[in-house]
Amino acid sequence: MLKVQNIDVYYGKIHAIKDISFEVKQGEVVTLIGANGAGKTTILKTLSKVLKPTNGSVFLKGQDIKNVQPHNMINLGMAHAPEGRRIFAQMTVLENLEMGAFIRKESKSELEQDMENVFTRFPRLKERRKQIAGTLSGGEQQMLAIGRALMSKPEILLMDEPSMGLAPILVDQIFNIIEDINKAGTTILLVEQNANRALQIANRAYVLETGKIVAEGDAKELLNKDEIKKAYLGG
Ligand code: ATP
Repeated sequence: MLKVQNIDVYYGKIHAIKDISFEVKQGEVVTLIGANGAGKTTILKTLSKVLKPTNGSVFLKGQDIKNVQPHNMINLGMAHAPEGRRIFAQMTVLENLEMGAFIRKESKSELEQDMENVFTRFPRLKERRKQIAGTLSGGEQQMLAIGRALMSKPEILLMDEPSMGLAPILVDQIFNIIEDINKAGTTILLVEQNANRALQIANRAYVLETGKIVAEGDAKELLNKDEIKKAYLGG
């Protein structure tokens, strides 16, 4: 589904991503874990074409995305639920969801059906559909960011720290929702600081340290590795 080959990404002189390669196969949940500043967000931004790698290539379903415009990534089947709940704060919940489907040319009835599907997954958003998004709680905004990404019916969903800042009960809910979305057929690349939870739901994982991949493998095996436990799972 997604193949990343030897990419380097710089912010000016800062070498944030150093010769990184990884892949996400169709149907998988793959997680990128690592401490603050390891480069997780930078990788997702590179995949969704907000940032350009200086070297290397990214292939989506076999196609090199080098010359694809950022807004066309949705048409290729990739959606990004960004960090920090970057929803459109001044718009209503409904308007935010409509923006998620904006690029797709589809009929009104299809749009309504997609919206209904999102509401089935997130009943809370339905209750609050006329509310200005910036006034939602943190958890609701996070759900809206995910719901908005789902409106484009992605084949692969990039998720940046979906559990960040949420109360424990909401963290549980969000991870259940991620598993459900995957079971319904969407491939997921999940970036998380909550490595423990991410590894529990992922098939495979890559561990990042200062812009490099330092470990990779089956998620459950990584969960039981002493070095990983010590460094990322709180002992
Ligand atoms: P976090 O979870 O804190 O977001 P991260 O693993 O996602 O961490 P990145 O945000 O990708 O890490 O940052 C990787 C490195 O690039 C860090 O050293 C960071 O300071 C640097 N960096 C990120 N954004 C910029 C920027 N706009 N300009 C300069 N350096 C940046």
